[in-house]
Amino acid sequence: MSIYLDNAATTKPCREAVKAVTDCMIENYGNPSSLHTMGLNAQLAADNVRKIIAKAIAADPGCIYFTSGATESNNLALIGAAKAYGKRKPRIVTTAIEHASVKKTMDHLGEEGFEIVRISPDRNGQISHEQILNAVDDRTCLVSIMMVNNEIGYILPVRRAFYGIKKKFPQCITHCDAVQGFMKIPFKVSELNADMISISGHKIHAGKGVGALYLKKGIRLEQRIFGGGQEKGIRSGTENIPMIAGMGAAVKVLCGNIDQRYEKVEKLKNMFCQKISEIEGVYINSGEECSPYIINISVPGIRSEIMLHYLEERDIYVSSGSACSKGAKSGVLTEFGINDRFADSALRISLCSENTVQELRILAENIEYAMERLIKSK
Ligand code: PMP
Repeated sequence: MSIYLDNAATTKPCREAVKAVTDCMIENYGNPSSLHTMGLNAQLAADNVRKIIAKAIAADPGCIYFTSGATESNNLALIGAAKAYGKRKPRIVTTAIEHASVKKTMDHLGEEGFEIVRISPDRNGQISHEQILNAVDDRTCLVSIMMVNNEIGYILPVRRAFYGIKKKFPQCITHCDAVQGFMKIPFKVSELNADMISISGHKIHAGKGVGALYLKKGIRLEQRIFGGGQEKGIRSGTENIPMIAGMGAAVKVLCGNIDQRYEKVEKLKNMFCQKISEIEGVYINSGEECSPYIINISVPGIRSEIMLHYLEERDIYVSSGSACSKGAKSGVLTEFGINDRFADSALRISLCSENTVQELRILAENIEYAMERLIKSK
């Protein structure tokens, strides 16, 4: 039996999502833009999922726009808002630990002439809401802060930062990449004070290539994708109705027990951290302030890839960092003050509520065996 501990990279689709996808492909394959009943039924399926997602974050269903995933949601939101609101306000504030889909979009906006301010964690590995607020001024058109960092699990003070920003600079647009928080940490859009929120289907036990952007009523985005005007012109292109249906089914399963799953995963994390801290030479990079769903550890002396493949041979799947970067260094661990020796040997263990105590015990034992074998054989 394989042990899958790479849930921050992607999750196993749940049975309900798979059924919703296949049912939709077999029975509801109309184009939602068609004027006949089959088109209408496809549109109704999409609108039903808009309601499910909206309910999960206490939003208006009319504010949910479907995309091909969070990479697209982030690109749409950031470039669209910067171009719409940044003509006389060239400053954009973000963090230095964002996912590549935000980081590289910011690089692009920087090349376009925007002034990008990236906030790094302080000496204690924290980003405070004051740090974020202090970086914002009346020339700032946009602020983008992720909810949970995907490599280390660090939970950012989005709520407090956005509250302060909206109080002081109500015109400033706020965006949150909530991919690693959605369905794991409960939030309501009104409490988050976010004008735009990106989410992804495949991180919540639905399929890949589907996601959504929450866009507060009244927020304008300059058009990025030109075409048939679907999704009220925000995102042209025929909607992937089967995958959207699957995402709705997954949200329906998860949204009723976010707190119970969080508690269960927290217990797993605590148990694993206790066990792993008893092994000399293993260090835990994810502190207590991190999401329990992501545990980043370092085993100095064994390069991440070596350990990853050693574990893989034993049917245990973890990540060497962010799956999006295919082993390439993202620099996020360095931002947290983790030195190269620790960063080069970092492993990301990311959980879902289906993981068990037994699985994590087996992982800890195998890390210990690996250290005996690989360090001694050097
Ligand atoms: N943001 C974060 C924080 C992520 O972890 C990911 C996925 N690794 C993305 C954005 C991109 O999501 P998608 O794969 O749906 O494009």
